[in-house]
Amino acid sequence: MIATSASAEGLGAFIDASPSPFHVCATVAAELEAAGYVRLDETRPWAGDVDGRRYVIRGGSLIAWDGGDCASPVRPLRIVGGHTDSPNLRVKQHPDRRSADLATVALEPYGGAWLNSWLDRDLGLSGRLAYDDDGAVSYALVQIDEPVLRVPQLAIHLSEDRKGVHLDPQRHVDAIRGVADAEPLIDWVAARAGLAPGRVLGWELMTHDLAPSQLIGTDRELLSAPRLDNQGTCYAGLRALLDAERGAQIPMLALFDHEEVGSGSERGAASDFLVTVCERLVTGLGGSREEFFAVLAASFHVSGDMAHATHPNYPDRHEPGHRIAVGGGPVLKVNQNLRYASDAIGEAEFALACRRAGVPLQRYVHRADLPCGSTIGPLTATRTGVRTVDVGAPQLAMHSARELMGAADVPMYSAALQAFLAG
Ligand code: ZN
Repeated sequence: MIATSASAEGLGAFIDASPSPFHVCATVAAELEAAGYVRLDETRPWAGDVDGRRYVIRGGSLIAWDGGDCASPVRPLRIVGGHTDSPNLRVKQHPDRRSADLATVALEPYGGAWLNSWLDRDLGLSGRLAYDDDGAVSYALVQIDEPVLRVPQLAIHLSEDRKGVHLDPQRHVDAIRGVADAEPLIDWVAARAGLAPGRVLGWELMTHDLAPSQLIGTDRELLSAPRLDNQGTCYAGLRALLDAERGAQIPMLALFDHEEVGSGSERGAASDFLVTVCERLVTGLGGSREEFFAVLAASFHVSGDMAHATHPNYPDRHEPGHRIAVGGGPVLKVNQNLRYASDAIGEAEFALACRRAGVPLQRYVHRADLPCGSTIGPLTATRTGVRTVDVGAPQLAMHSARELMGAADVPMYSAALQAFLAG
């Protein structure tokens, strides 16, 4: 395998530092800055300042590229894509409640959260606060890694048949924060961010599992962590960008928020974020709009999102003949009904990248009688016209508050992305 700086321990540390999409961007940005990347501001002209190492953040989304020192405007892009968000429980607008003489917080599921997995966990809070900054709106990130919330299960003796309960997303996922009357939750969170009560006027606040990521198993071959979907790709893609040798093409990392809720926002994969960054990059290098279209046509996007490893207790839920092994290497995802964007050319491109990286390749097909999930690949392909292949790394328990993957898959996945970026 080619040399890579990616490791399972490194992914665990990345995840623990990044409880929200905004924190994923901050964690990635810190690594990029340490490697000499400079942040560009979307609200200002970029002309003349797009070659070299640059990145831009739009909310919980981030795009970075290494333009090198060759200022030709017609170099194709090699893009590794991923998403920064993960399913979780988020704070409602009027969160403060009392029920059964307890102080509770009203929460709402975000994305396809596997609700049962959020019960009986000590939860922290993170996200961003928008506040009154002398009459203008500014925002601050907040990360509270303390056990402040808990959604307790119903006792088994109180369930109707002792076989489990159906969880209603409206009634059954509010969290307990204490017993006595407490100050409003938003004021309490604002104080933790150094903001006086009443200054916070908007928020995107979410819960996270506080148990640290760790290697588990008798031989420590597995990584137990939250948010592997899809911080596994954010981390592997970041290490790939930082490790990749510079070729004739421009390597780019594109990480999008809001994938878990359909990608339809100003910063989601269905937005204009990627296509406008690409156009401003080409025109900023002196290229024409004609040359911008030529660059898009010659570019390639590896859309990374986690893949379903074959579950040992449910092998019948998987397509026969397509076992996806934990520790078996990166996964190519193909769906005839285009839930994934992969086509023959993309399949071959990624298979070649795996060969160059010296890692095995696994091929995933979803059972035809089960609904297949989708990801950012078909959306960015539709939006940009850039050739796209959907890939991932194998994991179990996708969308659980606590997920599981093979430690060996982290460096193999990053090495494959690195080989792709190097062209
Ligand atoms: Zn995902």
